[in-house]
Parts: sequence; C-alpha cells; structure tokens
Amino acid sequence: MPRPLRTEPLRDVPVDGVKRVLLAAPRGYCAGVDRAVVAVEKALDRFGAPVYVRKQIVHNIHVVTELEAKGAIFVDEVDEVPEGAHVVFSAHGVSPAVVDAASARGLNAIDATCPLVTKVHREAVRFARDDYEILLIGHEGHEEVEGTAGEAPGHVTIVNSPEEADTVQVKDPSKVVWLSQTTLSVDETMETVNRLRTRFPELHNPPSDDICYATQNRQVAIKKVAADADLVIVVGSANSSNSVRLVEVALEHGAKAAYRVDYADEVQQEWLEGVNTVGVTSGASVPEVLVREVLEQLAGAGYADVEEVRTAEEDLMFSLPKELRQDAAGQRDARALGGRTSAGDG
Ligand code: SF4
Repeated sequence: MPRPLRTEPLRDVPVDGVKRVLLAAPRGYCAGVDRAVVAVEKALDRFGAPVYVRKQIVHNIHVVTELEAKGAIFVDEVDEVPEGAHVVFSAHGVSPAVVDAASARGLNAIDATCPLVTKVHREAVRFARDDYEILLIGHEGHEEVEGTAGEAPGHVTIVNSPEEADTVQVKDPSKVVWLSQTTLSVDETMETVNRLRTRFPELHNPPSDDICYATQNRQVAIKKVAADADLVIVVGSANSSNSVRLVEVALEHGAKAAYRVDYADEVQQEWLEGVNTVGVTSGASVPEVLVREVLEQLAGAGYADVEEVRTAEEDLMFSLPKELRQDAAGQRDARALGGRTSAGDG
C-alpha cells in the first residue's frame, strides 16, 4: 500500500542534540540500470515512438513513468507487442522461451539484460549441461529468477529463504550447485548457503559472486551508516529487490527505524520524532534526483548538515546492447566504445 503523500512540508521540531544526515555512498544507479535506461532512450531516438519494453525496464516507478512520457510502452509479455515492432528486454533478463517467442512474432528485440545477470544465466546453462542440480537462491516470481531458471529447465529448484534450505530435496547430493539472484542480502544468502551445506556437504559454489558489486556495495555502505542512525530512509520502489534488502540490512545493523519511500513526499513527520541522525541511501534503480528531493525536505526540517559516508568507489560502465551500437550511418556509438571500464556486453 502506498503511503499517504504529505501536502505540508516537514516541520523543524527540536530534538535533544544535533540534527544531521549521513548519506550512504555508493547509492543509486548501478551500471546495469544505467545501461538499460539509456538503451530505451536510444531506441526511442533511433526507431521513434513507440518502443515496447517487456516488464519494467528497471524496478523504479519514477524511471518507468518518465520513459512512458517519452514514448515507451511497457507490456507484460511479448504477445502484447505488435508484430515487427521493437521490444526491449529489461535489465532483469529473460528466459530463452521469451527470446524465442519474440523471434516467432517477428519482433526486433533489444536485449538490455544486465551483463551480470547474463553471467548467472551462463553459469546455469553450464551446470545444467554438466547435469548438476541447481539450487537457485532467490525470490520465486521475480523476473530475474524466472529468467535464470528458464535457462536450465528441469535442473533448477528455487530456494526462497534460509528456512527453505532446511527442507529442499535434491536427487543426488553429490552433484548440487548453488547460484543466486543478483540483488539479495549478502548475509542472508550466506546463511542459506551454510544451511544447505550442512545438509549437502558436497554442495558446489558458483565460480564467482552472483550477488553483484552494486548490491554488495550499497549494503556495505548502509551497514556503516545504520550503526549511527536513529532513522534510515531508503529511496526505492516496493518491487526493487535490492532497495527492500537495504531496509532489512539497515535494521539488522543498528538503525532504530528504517523505511522505504518512492518519493520525498512519502517521508512522514512522525518518523522524525526524537531523531538526531537520519541515514539516507537509494537502491540501484533510483535516479539521484529522488535522493536530492529527500535531502531538500529533510533540510527544511532542520537536517541540513549532510555528511557523505563512502565505503567504495564505483566506475564500472557497460557497453550498450549490441543492437544499439551501430547507428544508421554505420558510426559506432560513443558509449559503446568504452567509458571508464567496459565489462561485458550482455
Ligand atoms: S543491480 Fe547488479 S545485476 Fe542488477 S542491473 Fe544493477 S549491476 Fe546489474
């Protein structure tokens, strides 16, 4: 349920002590989200509106609304897209069945799957080919989990929680591997893995971290902030897995209270009662403008002293989907040529 929006500004109510904001960094857009949003904008520029997008391109209501205003049409499935039209697959990835359905419909597909999701897809394909049973730690029904599971039909069992690790059944405990969704809580995932390993000592690990750098970095930063915060505000949408995890991580690491908001107007006056230190962060699909609006409103309530708490530097960039790297004149897209670090091509 969305919270009631305030129509009045937040009030500057006195507290014992000094009011301040600790602003977590890194926060906000990750490389995969940036790439996916730019992909839709480029597709609109190049092919004209409308451009169809299967599912929300990234899980943020503000981003989706802005792209709709520019001519993007969001659909649930490719059979809602007119034959021959352009369709963008979201950052969360798709299963081969969706790719095939788009192809059968004659759609011009642009794959904005985050390269770090694609990496997990490749792991699933490889382990299935080697006849492993894959325990996929993640949330059933999440688009990313559906896409990864779809790469290895008949080989994947989803493990939703540490508790499920205690009951999940496998056919051959000597040939089991775990993989995970990219946006989970690092600590909770490790708990799930430990509980799985207690039952299946030969459990194989993925070749590298599946929980992505952006998810991990945002969790490390909010842990540091939460230890000193009376209140943590996470900017992000309800269906954004990594944003919801940030609220949980903040509460587990010392924040006295933590809430998620889509917009600054959802911050409630009563949250600030007796609060000296407010921690602020945002999920990986959140544009910085939404954080700025929260900071402005907090400043009006006396929390104008903002200190950034940075725990990592990020400079990763991904090249655009290959369908967008070449313009009509055969010019290479400047973005596709590099950026500070080019890591994968989805
Ligand atoms: S959160 Fe991680 S996996 Fe998801 S789009 Fe961003 S970088 Fe990619």
